[in-house]
Amino acid sequence: MISVAIDGPAGSGKSTISKIIAQKLGFVHLDTGALYRAIAYFIDKNNVDFNNENEVKKCLKFVDLKIEKSGAEQKILLGGKVLSSELRSLNITKIASRIASYRCVREYLLNFQRDFAEKQNVVMDGRDIGTVVLPNASVKIFITASPEVRAGRRLEQMSKSGEKPDYNEILDAIKKRDYEDTHRVIAPLKKADDAAVIDNSNMNLNQTVESVLSIIKERVESI
Ligand code: C5P
Repeated sequence: MISVAIDGPAGSGKSTISKIIAQKLGFVHLDTGALYRAIAYFIDKNNVDFNNENEVKKCLKFVDLKIEKSGAEQKILLGGKVLSSELRSLNITKIASRIASYRCVREYLLNFQRDFAEKQNVVMDGRDIGTVVLPNASVKIFITASPEVRAGRRLEQMSKSGEKPDYNEILDAIKKRDYEDTHRVIAPLKKADDAAVIDNSNMNLNQTVESVLSIIKERVESI
């Protein structure tokens, strides 16, 4: 199986880019951040104290997470219910970031993600795909951009979905999340030694997609 691992910080555009790349290559895309968000959603709905790792661990055995193909896209199902925009709120973002530092959550999702990549050609995006989840991925790419550019993108994204976000609040949240993602003990956000780096602060979506595609073609002869 061919696997493309795309990692990077929040707001680097990696999920949008990964989705397009997967469509172009005929691969399946998995946005692994959405898996952490789905668990955060479960925790929130069931009033579990997300600051208490033990409580989170106990509730994981009741999490029924599935991925279903819907055309070229993936649907995330929690207890049979499709989740999408409800995973993007600031509250769920905050809980996801917290619980992503817990070993029990990472182990639960590690098997889930590896199983997924064993069955099909994938483009998987996240924070630790090239370093931990798929250390033998066929291609590893690390996409990044300045915090200010990323905050601007998030602002646009949230405004489109009807929210009225504040730029400074988003920028602060991004910086806090960068700190938490890069400083956590288990599977921190880090470029894999053999990953190619793309800083897309001054690139548009098409330019980033082209750049990712050319790296993939360089590294995987059969594509
Ligand atoms: O990418 P996204 O913002 O949707 O990720 C939600 C949260 O899940 C992030 O705060 C990040 O800490 C966590 N995450 C992770 N490992 C991944 C993907 C996401 O820790 N592979």
